[in-house]
Amino acid sequence: MRSERKAFMADCIFCKIVKGKIPSDKVMEGKHFIAIRDINPQAPVHILLITREHFKNILEFPRSEGMFFEMLSMIEKVVKAEKIEKGFRVVINTGLEAGQSVDHFHIHILGGREMKWPPG
Ligand code: AMP
Repeated sequence: MRSERKAFMADCIFCKIVKGKIPSDKVMEGKHFIAIRDINPQAPVHILLITREHFKNILEFPRSEGMFFEMLSMIEKVVKAEKIEKGFRVVINTGLEAGQSVDHFHIHILGGREMKWPPG
């Protein structure tokens, strides 16, 4: 691994959460993902699925059946555990223009209120 990438990952807030170096409100753990409550919730339920391994965004996320299967299974488990089956939104902000503020792949699961479309 290149040294600039290692240095970047050492500073990555989600890498620190995954390693338990900074606290988080963890709701679920899988082999490839953890699920935590967002620190600045945009809905009554706002959970982040975060990859244990550092990938910058969805374009870097590996095309691996195991990871993809777990991602979908954990979305379903979170939605059921939080009882938001009747309406929820799954969001992956990618790039500055889309509002991605943490360059470590993660999925927002939002629910518990009415959602508008189109998103802002
Ligand atoms: P995005 O803007 O799509 O990259 O999403 C990053 C999300 O991470 C935002 O919704 C932040 O509120 C959330 N966030 C940042 N730091 C923390 C943290 N320490 N614990 C939980 N959520 C965080």
